[in-house]
Amino acid sequence: METLGHYINGMAVHGAGARMLPVFNPATGVQSRQVAVATPDEVNAAIEAAADAYPAWAATPPLRRARVMFKFKALMEAHADELAEIISAEHGKVFSDARGEVMRGVEVVEFACGIPELLKGEFTENVGTNIDSYNIRQALGVCVGITPFNFPAMVPLWMFPIALACGNSFVLKVSEKVPSAALRMAALLKEAGLPDGVFNVVNGDKDVVERLLHDPRIAAISFVGSTPIAEQVYAAGTKAGKRVQALGGAKNHLVIMPDADLDQAVDALMGAAYGSAGERCMAVSVAVPVGPVAEPLIERICQRARSLKIGPGADRQAEMGPLVTAHHKAKVEAYIAQGEAEGAELVLDGRGLKLQGNENGYFTGPTLFDHVTPEMAIYKEEIFGPVLSVVRRNSFDAALELVNKHEFGNGAVIYTADGDTARAFSSGVLAGMVGVNVPIPVPMAFHSFGGWKRSIFGDHAIHGREGVRFYTRIKTITARWPTGIRRGAEFAMPTMK
Ligand code: NAD
Repeated sequence: METLGHYINGMAVHGAGARMLPVFNPATGVQSRQVAVATPDEVNAAIEAAADAYPAWAATPPLRRARVMFKFKALMEAHADELAEIISAEHGKVFSDARGEVMRGVEVVEFACGIPELLKGEFTENVGTNIDSYNIRQALGVCVGITPFNFPAMVPLWMFPIALACGNSFVLKVSEKVPSAALRMAALLKEAGLPDGVFNVVNGDKDVVERLLHDPRIAAISFVGSTPIAEQVYAAGTKAGKRVQALGGAKNHLVIMPDADLDQAVDALMGAAYGSAGERCMAVSVAVPVGPVAEPLIERICQRARSLKIGPGADRQAEMGPLVTAHHKAKVEAYIAQGEAEGAELVLDGRGLKLQGNENGYFTGPTLFDHVTPEMAIYKEEIFGPVLSVVRRNSFDAALELVNKHEFGNGAVIYTADGDTARAFSSGVLAGMVGVNVPIPVPMAFHSFGGWKRSIFGDHAIHGREGVRFYTRIKTITARWPTGIRRGAEFAMPTMK
């Protein structure tokens, strides 16, 4: 069986003899490989390599760092299909979706190619007579990325291209369920000319995270994952004096107004609720029809969901793949049972789905609950599967109030034909990313990605200019050069005359 190790100081490290974790093909339920959990010595070696490589990389002119990013972008494009196949085989998502994830990640690399412009500071001549002031942004040091299973390439790519372009070195710990894509990207970075040690990958689980969180050589941590772990990582990391951004879970609502184009809204819900088997932090898991639109909406979702093509990720015709692990499938299906027990109306039940030839795959079909209430666990908690809950409301205000009372505030969407309603929603909704007739409003790389409320811990969203701010710190220099006017020492606070 193939064993996946780590990538330290420009070399693949086999990690033999360490604790091993299984990696499965979710479409077949068969273990495909195993991944080594990095030992304390291996974690130490990765941090040491990053710390040693940092000064020279930080001193490399931004234009040269950008040139490495240009080459990396070209290599990522050349290997996009290969990466998508790797992702699909470990995560389960369909090939087209996996390829889309790779390309959304490449867009962050494209953004990072502009780092010479992005790092330009501000300059004020004569802040005082013959005194100039300017500010620059400098790298932080060794940065860490800790990422979830659902985007094995894209979420790491939200982080490291900008961190590296800013002059930091990096240690990445991806989800132990999907370790291969990160190792492949590390090799491509080396091929692009990144000096050894600037980018390292350590595989493993929470034990590895614990070591990274407490190591004094780490300056900053970017985390993306579930809310309980995001909160823990934020608390522990900031307590240890590190800069931390920790993005957590979600429960994204899509409000359908009576004037919405119903066909568009149904299309939107199909992709946003069931695409990637609902394992997206921007998936829509709550539909909020306002007034009479509920009945026709539910009817049409049922029709469409029944013809959804479910299959292994490798099947190029499939629209929805399996869930990531047997454990996750059991968790999602336990929520379906709980929803029934809580009194929601189970309109479509995805349990018990067996695909011919893939009987042991972790498939759960599209599931739809109607008459869900805010008190139910299936409403309050993130299920992270193909389960859509319908919560009916009678007015725009009641729909907005519902969205705003939820503890999560990642994304929120409205479907309407009325500009005034859309504007009121965009302005009043308590969420970081808002869609108006756009079902999954994931910001492009040159904007920034981040939720509100308990979907984020920390002050900075990820990528875009927020990414540059997170991975650099500002320094303001106030300078006076001798002008021939000599004065003695000054003891009073200088003020403008
Ligand atoms: P997770 O929280 O279980 O794991 C995320 C990372 O943390 C992994 O690398 C994992 O190894 C590590 N980890 C797990 N348990 C840990 C612990 N006790 N201590 C320290 N580290 C630990 O998340 P997941 O199941 O891999 O991913 C799904 C979650 O990620 C969902 O909640 C989803 O909403 C969220 N997510 C959020 C965003 C966002 O941008 N807000 C994006 C993608 C995914």
